[in-house]
Amino acid sequence: MNVEEALGKRGEKSSGFVEVGRTSVNIYRIPVVVISGAKPGKTIGFLAGTHGTEYASIEGLIRATRELDPAEMKGNVIAVTVLNGPHFEHRSAFLSPIDQLNQNRQFPGDPEGTLSRRTAYVAFKEVASRSDALVDLHGGDIGEDIDSMVIAGSGGGEEVDAMALDMARCFPTEYVSKLPETASGLSMTAQKKYGIPCVTSEAGTPYPVRERHIKFHYDGVMNILKYFGVLPGEPVLADAEISPKGYRYKAENAGIWHGFHELGSRVKKGEPVGEVTDLFGNVLESYIAPEDAKVTFLRTFYSVNQGEGLIGLTVLK
Ligand SMILES: [Zn+2]
Repeated sequence: MNVEEALGKRGEKSSGFVEVGRTSVNIYRIPVVVISGAKPGKTIGFLAGTHGTEYASIEGLIRATRELDPAEMKGNVIAVTVLNGPHFEHRSAFLSPIDQLNQNRQFPGDPEGTLSRRTAYVAFKEVASRSDALVDLHGGDIGEDIDSMVIAGSGGGEEVDAMALDMARCFPTEYVSKLPETASGLSMTAQKKYGIPCVTSEAGTPYPVRERHIKFHYDGVMNILKYFGVLPGEPVLADAEISPKGYRYKAENAGIWHGFHELGSRVKKGEPVGEVTDLFGNVLESYIAPEDAKVTFLRTFYSVNQGEGLIGLTVLK
Protein backbone atom coordinates (compact mmCIF):
# COMPACT_ATOMS: atom_id res chain seq x y z
CA MET A 1 0.00 0.00 0.00
CA ASN A 2 0.98 3.62 -0.41
CA VAL A 3 0.57 5.40 2.95
CA GLU A 4 0.58 8.90 1.43
CA GLU A 5 -2.21 8.01 -1.00
CA ALA A 6 -4.25 6.30 1.73
CA LEU A 7 -3.98 9.41 3.92
CA GLY A 8 -5.40 11.44 1.04
CA LYS A 9 -8.59 9.35 0.85
CA ARG A 10 -10.68 11.39 3.30
CA GLY A 11 -13.28 9.39 5.20
CA GLU A 12 -11.78 6.03 4.22
CA LYS A 13 -10.06 3.17 6.00
CA SER A 14 -7.32 1.38 4.02
CA SER A 15 -5.15 -1.57 4.91
CA GLY A 16 -2.31 -3.34 3.19
CA PHE A 17 1.38 -4.12 3.35
CA VAL A 18 4.55 -2.09 2.96
CA GLU A 19 7.77 -3.89 2.05
CA VAL A 20 10.66 -3.55 4.50
CA GLY A 21 13.28 -5.96 3.16
CA ARG A 22 14.09 -9.27 1.51
CA THR A 23 15.81 -12.49 2.45
CA SER A 24 16.91 -15.10 -0.08
CA VAL A 25 13.41 -16.58 -0.43
CA ASN A 26 11.04 -14.19 1.36
CA ILE A 27 9.83 -10.64 1.09
CA TYR A 28 9.17 -9.11 4.52
CA ARG A 29 6.33 -6.62 4.80
CA ILE A 30 4.58 -4.72 7.57
CA PRO A 31 0.76 -4.67 7.87
CA VAL A 32 -0.44 -1.06 7.90
CA VAL A 33 -3.91 0.40 8.56
CA VAL A 34 -4.46 4.02 7.50
CA ILE A 35 -7.66 5.68 8.69
CA SER A 36 -8.16 9.06 7.07
CA GLY A 37 -10.72 11.02 9.07
CA ALA A 38 -13.64 12.73 7.34
CA LYS A 39 -12.27 16.04 8.62
CA PRO A 40 -8.62 17.18 8.83
CA GLY A 41 -6.75 17.14 12.14
CA LYS A 42 -3.75 15.55 13.84
CA THR A 43 -2.17 12.32 12.62
CA ILE A 44 -1.35 9.78 15.32
CA GLY A 45 1.04 6.89 14.64
CA PHE A 46 0.75 3.53 16.38
CA LEU A 47 3.16 0.58 16.37
CA ALA A 48 2.44 -2.86 17.81
CA GLY A 49 4.48 -6.05 17.56
CA THR A 50 7.79 -4.19 17.61
CA HIS A 51 8.45 -7.24 19.72
CA GLY A 52 6.41 -9.82 17.82
CA THR A 53 5.36 -11.97 20.77
CA GLU A 54 3.84 -9.13 22.84
CA TYR A 55 0.40 -10.21 21.73
CA ALA A 56 -1.95 -8.23 24.01
CA SER A 57 -0.60 -5.04 22.44
CA ILE A 58 -1.16 -6.37 18.91
CA GLU A 59 -4.70 -7.46 19.75
CA GLY A 60 -5.49 -4.14 21.44
CA LEU A 61 -4.36 -2.17 18.38
CA ILE A 62 -6.20 -4.42 15.90
CA ARG A 63 -9.37 -4.07 18.00
CA ALA A 64 -9.05 -0.28 17.98
CA THR A 65 -8.41 -0.03 14.22
CA ARG A 66 -11.45 -2.28 13.53
CA GLU A 67 -13.72 -0.09 15.64
CA LEU A 68 -12.56 3.33 14.49
CA ASP A 69 -15.00 4.98 12.11
CA PRO A 70 -13.39 7.54 9.76
CA ALA A 71 -16.73 9.39 9.52
CA GLU A 72 -16.38 10.33 13.23
CA MET A 73 -12.72 11.31 13.03
CA LYS A 74 -11.02 14.69 12.76
CA GLY A 75 -7.52 13.64 11.77
CA ASN A 76 -5.82 10.39 10.93
CA VAL A 77 -4.43 7.15 12.28
CA ILE A 78 -1.46 5.26 10.83
CA ALA A 79 -1.17 1.91 12.58
CA VAL A 80 1.32 -0.93 12.08
CA THR A 81 -0.28 -3.95 13.74
CA VAL A 82 2.83 -6.21 13.64
CA LEU A 83 6.08 -4.36 13.00
CA ASN A 84 8.38 -7.31 13.59
CA GLY A 85 7.17 -10.07 11.23
CA PRO A 86 10.07 -12.50 11.72
CA HIS A 87 9.72 -12.35 15.53
CA PHE A 88 5.94 -12.85 15.22
CA GLU A 89 6.24 -15.81 12.83
CA HIS A 90 9.06 -17.61 14.59
CA ARG A 91 8.02 -16.83 18.20
CA SER A 92 11.67 -16.19 19.02
CA ALA A 93 12.32 -14.37 22.30
CA PHE A 94 13.55 -10.76 22.20
CA LEU A 95 15.55 -11.00 18.96
CA SER A 96 14.73 -11.26 15.28
CA PRO A 97 15.62 -14.73 13.96
CA ILE A 98 16.78 -13.10 10.72
CA ASP A 99 19.55 -10.82 12.02
CA GLN A 100 19.54 -11.52 15.80
CA LEU A 101 18.80 -7.87 16.62
CA ASN A 102 16.37 -6.37 19.14
CA GLN A 103 13.95 -4.36 16.98
CA ASN A 104 13.49 -1.73 19.67
CA ARG A 105 17.20 -0.84 19.70
CA GLN A 106 17.43 -0.15 15.92
CA PHE A 107 15.65 3.19 15.50
CA PRO A 108 16.00 5.40 13.49
CA GLY A 109 17.15 2.45 11.36
CA ASP A 110 19.15 2.25 8.17
CA PRO A 111 17.80 1.64 4.63
CA GLU A 112 21.03 -0.23 3.81
CA GLY A 113 21.17 -2.28 7.05
CA THR A 114 19.94 -5.76 7.90
CA LEU A 115 16.20 -6.49 8.12
CA SER A 116 15.55 -5.08 11.62
CA ARG A 117 17.44 -1.88 10.72
CA ARG A 118 15.44 -1.55 7.48
CA THR A 119 12.19 -2.18 9.33
CA ALA A 120 12.99 0.60 11.82
CA TYR A 121 13.84 2.94 8.94
CA VAL A 122 10.52 2.25 7.18
CA ALA A 123 8.56 2.68 10.45
CA PHE A 124 10.06 6.12 10.98
CA LYS A 125 9.71 7.15 7.33
CA GLU A 126 6.14 5.91 6.84
CA VAL A 127 4.69 6.43 10.34
CA ALA A 128 6.70 8.65 12.72
CA SER A 129 7.71 11.31 10.18
CA ARG A 130 4.04 11.76 9.18
CA SER A 131 2.68 11.78 12.74
CA ASP A 132 2.04 14.39 15.43
CA ALA A 133 2.55 11.75 18.14
CA LEU A 134 3.83 8.16 18.25
CA VAL A 135 2.59 5.30 20.42
CA ASP A 136 4.52 1.99 20.62
CA LEU A 137 2.58 -0.82 22.31
CA HIS A 138 4.55 -3.49 24.18
CA GLY A 139 4.29 -6.05 26.97
CA GLY A 140 6.18 -9.01 28.36
CA ASP A 141 8.17 -11.02 25.81
CA ILE A 142 8.52 -14.83 26.05
CA GLY A 143 9.22 -15.70 29.69
CA GLU A 144 7.98 -12.35 31.01
CA ASP A 145 4.69 -11.03 32.40
CA ILE A 146 4.12 -7.30 32.94
CA ASP A 147 1.20 -5.54 34.67
CA SER A 148 0.83 -2.66 33.48
CA MET A 149 2.63 0.67 32.97
CA VAL A 150 3.62 3.31 30.46
CA ILE A 151 6.96 4.94 29.62
CA ALA A 152 6.84 8.58 28.55
CA GLY A 153 9.42 9.82 26.06
CA SER A 154 11.92 12.60 26.72
CA GLY A 155 14.25 14.93 24.86
CA GLY A 156 11.61 16.81 22.85
CA GLY A 157 11.71 20.04 24.88
CA GLU A 158 9.51 21.05 27.81
CA GLU A 159 6.18 21.27 25.98
CA VAL A 160 6.54 18.04 24.00
CA ASP A 161 7.81 16.14 27.06
CA ALA A 162 4.76 17.33 29.03
CA MET A 163 2.48 16.11 26.24
CA ALA A 164 4.19 12.70 26.35
CA LEU A 165 3.39 12.51 30.07
CA ASP A 166 -0.27 13.36 29.35
CA MET A 167 -0.35 10.67 26.63
CA ALA A 168 1.06 8.13 29.09
CA ARG A 169 -1.76 9.03 31.50
CA CYS A 170 -4.27 8.31 28.71
CA PHE A 171 -3.72 4.62 29.55
CA PRO A 172 -5.52 3.36 32.67
CA THR A 173 -2.16 3.09 34.41
CA GLU A 174 -1.17 3.31 38.07
CA TYR A 175 2.29 4.63 37.20
CA VAL A 176 4.40 6.18 34.49
CA SER A 177 8.18 6.08 34.08
CA LYS A 178 10.09 8.76 32.23
CA LEU A 179 12.58 7.61 29.61
CA PRO A 180 16.14 8.71 30.43
CA GLU A 181 17.35 11.22 27.85
CA THR A 182 20.43 9.07 27.20
CA ALA A 183 18.32 6.18 25.82
CA SER A 184 19.06 5.30 22.21
CA GLY A 185 17.65 3.00 19.55
CA LEU A 186 14.08 2.96 20.90
CA SER A 187 11.05 4.02 18.87
CA MET A 188 10.60 6.77 21.49
CA THR A 189 13.72 8.48 20.13
CA ALA A 190 11.27 9.91 17.57
CA GLN A 191 10.50 12.44 20.32
CA LYS A 192 13.94 14.00 19.84
CA LYS A 193 14.26 13.32 16.09
CA TYR A 194 10.86 14.65 15.00
CA GLY A 195 9.89 16.74 18.05
CA ILE A 196 6.73 14.66 18.59
CA PRO A 197 5.56 13.20 21.91
CA CYS A 198 6.10 9.43 22.21
CA VAL A 199 5.01 6.76 24.67
CA THR A 200 5.53 3.03 25.13
CA SER A 201 2.85 1.03 26.92
CA GLU A 202 3.80 -2.23 28.67
CA ALA A 203 1.18 -4.85 29.53
CA GLY A 204 0.79 -8.59 29.08
CA THR A 205 2.59 -11.84 28.43
CA PRO A 206 2.61 -14.06 25.30
CA TYR A 207 0.56 -16.74 27.05
CA PRO A 208 -2.13 -16.35 28.22
CA VAL A 209 -3.22 -13.22 26.34
CA ARG A 210 -5.45 -11.66 29.01
CA GLU A 211 -8.45 -9.47 28.33
CA ARG A 212 -7.37 -6.90 30.95
CA HIS A 213 -4.07 -6.39 29.13
CA ILE A 214 -5.70 -6.13 25.69
CA LYS A 215 -8.08 -3.56 27.16
CA PHE A 216 -5.23 -1.60 28.74
CA HIS A 217 -3.68 -1.02 25.30
CA TYR A 218 -7.03 -0.51 23.57
CA ASP A 219 -8.21 2.07 26.14
CA GLY A 220 -4.93 3.94 25.82
CA VAL A 221 -5.20 4.10 22.01
CA MET A 222 -8.79 5.37 22.06
CA ASN A 223 -8.16 7.86 24.86
CA ILE A 224 -5.05 9.27 23.12
CA LEU A 225 -7.18 9.87 20.01
CA LYS A 226 -9.59 11.87 22.20
CA TYR A 227 -6.67 13.77 23.75
CA PHE A 228 -5.58 14.95 20.28
CA GLY A 229 -9.13 15.71 19.15
CA VAL A 230 -9.14 12.95 16.51
CA LEU A 231 -12.09 11.33 18.29
CA PRO A 232 -14.89 13.34 19.90
CA GLY A 233 -15.17 13.36 23.70
CA GLU A 234 -12.99 14.26 26.66
CA PRO A 235 -9.96 12.09 27.42
CA VAL A 236 -9.69 10.57 30.90
CA LEU A 237 -6.18 11.05 32.31
CA ALA A 238 -5.15 8.52 34.94
CA ASP A 239 -4.03 9.86 38.30
CA ALA A 240 -0.74 8.02 37.83
CA GLU A 241 2.35 8.16 39.99
CA ILE A 242 5.41 9.39 38.11
CA SER A 243 8.56 7.24 38.28
CA PRO A 244 7.77 5.48 41.59
CA LYS A 245 10.41 3.46 43.41
CA GLY A 246 10.80 -0.12 42.24
CA TYR A 247 12.79 -3.28 42.93
CA ARG A 248 13.85 -5.76 40.28
CA TYR A 249 15.53 -9.01 41.25
CA LYS A 250 17.74 -11.25 39.12
CA ALA A 251 18.85 -14.80 39.86
CA GLU A 252 22.23 -15.12 41.53
CA ASN A 253 22.01 -18.91 41.22
CA ALA A 254 20.70 -21.12 38.44
CA GLY A 255 17.90 -23.57 39.17
CA ILE A 256 14.14 -23.38 39.56
CA TRP A 257 12.10 -20.21 40.14
CA HIS A 258 9.10 -20.33 42.45
CA GLY A 259 7.06 -17.10 42.48
CA PHE A 260 4.58 -16.93 45.38
CA HIS A 261 2.13 -14.31 44.05
CA GLU A 262 0.08 -13.68 40.94
CA LEU A 263 1.04 -10.79 38.72
CA GLY A 264 -0.72 -7.64 39.91
CA SER A 265 -0.89 -8.78 43.57
CA ARG A 266 -0.19 -6.43 46.44
CA VAL A 267 2.46 -7.67 48.86
CA LYS A 268 3.27 -6.46 52.36
CA LYS A 269 6.68 -5.46 53.66
CA GLY A 270 8.49 -8.58 54.93
CA GLU A 271 6.32 -11.00 52.96
CA PRO A 272 8.19 -13.75 51.03
CA VAL A 273 7.65 -13.24 47.29
CA GLY A 274 9.64 -16.06 45.73
CA GLU A 275 12.67 -18.34 45.85
CA VAL A 276 15.17 -20.14 43.65
CA THR A 277 15.87 -23.77 44.46
CA ASP A 278 18.42 -26.21 43.05
CA LEU A 279 17.33 -29.34 41.18
CA PHE A 280 17.03 -31.23 44.49
CA GLY A 281 14.63 -28.69 45.96
CA ASN A 282 17.13 -26.98 48.28
CA VAL A 283 16.50 -23.25 48.60
CA LEU A 284 19.39 -21.25 47.15
CA GLU A 285 17.97 -17.74 47.42
CA SER A 286 14.81 -16.20 48.89
CA TYR A 287 13.16 -12.90 48.12
CA ILE A 288 11.25 -10.79 50.64
CA ALA A 289 9.25 -7.64 49.84
CA PRO A 290 11.35 -4.74 51.22
CA GLU A 291 8.25 -2.47 51.30
CA ASP A 292 4.52 -2.71 50.62
CA ALA A 293 4.41 -3.04 46.83
CA LYS A 294 2.66 -4.38 43.75
CA VAL A 295 4.03 -7.31 41.73
CA THR A 296 4.48 -5.62 38.35
CA PHE A 297 6.88 -8.05 36.67
CA LEU A 298 7.10 -11.84 36.90
CA ARG A 299 9.26 -14.50 35.38
CA THR A 300 6.95 -17.10 33.78
CA PHE A 301 9.62 -19.75 33.05
CA TYR A 302 10.17 -22.45 35.68
CA SER A 303 13.86 -22.90 34.92
CA VAL A 304 16.26 -20.05 35.52
CA ASN A 305 19.88 -19.31 34.68
CA GLN A 306 22.17 -16.90 36.52
CA GLY A 307 21.46 -13.24 35.87
CA GLU A 308 17.93 -13.75 34.50
CA GLY A 309 15.01 -11.62 35.76
CA LEU A 310 12.77 -13.07 38.49
CA ILE A 311 10.35 -10.51 39.87
CA GLY A 312 9.71 -6.77 39.85
CA LEU A 313 7.98 -4.89 42.67
CA THR A 314 6.73 -1.32 42.38
CA VAL A 315 6.00 0.80 45.45
CA LEU A 316 2.63 2.43 44.83
CA LYS A 317 0.49 4.51 47.20
ZN1 LIG B 1 8.60 -5.09 23.94
